[in-house]
Amino acid sequence: MISSKVKFLESFLGEGSSLSRNNDVAFYCPKCNHRKKKLAVNLNTDKKGHWGKYHCWVCGEKFKGKNLISLLKFCGRYSLLKEYVKTINDDKWFTLDTKKVDLNVALPIKFIPISSYLLNNDKNSNLKRAYHYLKNERKLTDIEIISNMFGITTDKNYYGYVIIPSFDKDGELNYFVGRSYTGSKYRYRNCKNAKTNIIFNEINIDWNSDLLITEGPFDCIKSKLNSTCILGSSLIKKSLLFKKIVENKTPIKLALDSDSKGTEKAINIASLLMKYNIDVQIINFDKKYKDIAEMPADEWLSIYESQKGLSLNETEILKKRIEGMV
Ligand SMILES: [Zn+2]
Repeated sequence: MISSKVKFLESFLGEGSSLSRNNDVAFYCPKCNHRKKKLAVNLNTDKKGHWGKYHCWVCGEKFKGKNLISLLKFCGRYSLLKEYVKTINDDKWFTLDTKKVDLNVALPIKFIPISSYLLNNDKNSNLKRAYHYLKNERKLTDIEIISNMFGITTDKNYYGYVIIPSFDKDGELNYFVGRSYTGSKYRYRNCKNAKTNIIFNEINIDWNSDLLITEGPFDCIKSKLNSTCILGSSLIKKSLLFKKIVENKTPIKLALDSDSKGTEKAINIASLLMKYNIDVQIINFDKKYKDIAEMPADEWLSIYESQKGLSLNETEILKKRIEGMV
């Protein structure tokens, strides 16, 4: 039983460490991608037949009392998980969030593009409010608002949110992000598709040029460069974005948030990519700006131009890790 649990976990998380005295196995954490195996999964089965309590010693990701789905979703292998569930019909514990398996994504019903406020003089007061949010708080130009096809919806799940659609390489919708324009405490409300299965606005990406990776969609737009974003999460080996970068040997520039979390994420992503011989560079900017989206465009572009060129090596990564600890 223990060995089948290990086999199951390894098909998602890669090779585990040897079993500890308490029946813990350590894996690389799919959430924070720390360079060491810091995710401990316990294989003991309790009275209810549950097993798999886990904890990452680095990012703190831990078992939420239901099942392993919240961990395994970071691996982006939903079809594998579904297959596995079918084979263990005696174990009711594994339940699947089927919404996440379905790759088809559709915009919320009654999607109204913000361009209709600008071009057709639509008087809808929510459209006006969303437009002013993008214009005044996000400092986007009318052209950026129209060309990125921002919109709003009367769907109650996304009411009060600007919908930011994303398109795959063929121009098909593959994801959307909702950003509150009314100051809701939930700033973002994303669609149910798994982030790891899609590349945000792949339609705009040239894989043969330097690719900038940011945290959020507004950073991408404001960067005015060949870019995509990781939607606030990390870059994991099983993600489509990672595969495409390695396949195309695309040189990567990382400009994540300037806070310590963002810095740590950037270092982890950089060291992962370097293991695969990808040229990677971290672009540093003044901590007075949280991200590119907050920076005036000309200031960002001059920072980028002045730093781009040199790619990182192992020593510099180590130096950054040490700086990060101070
Ligand atoms: Zn972690």
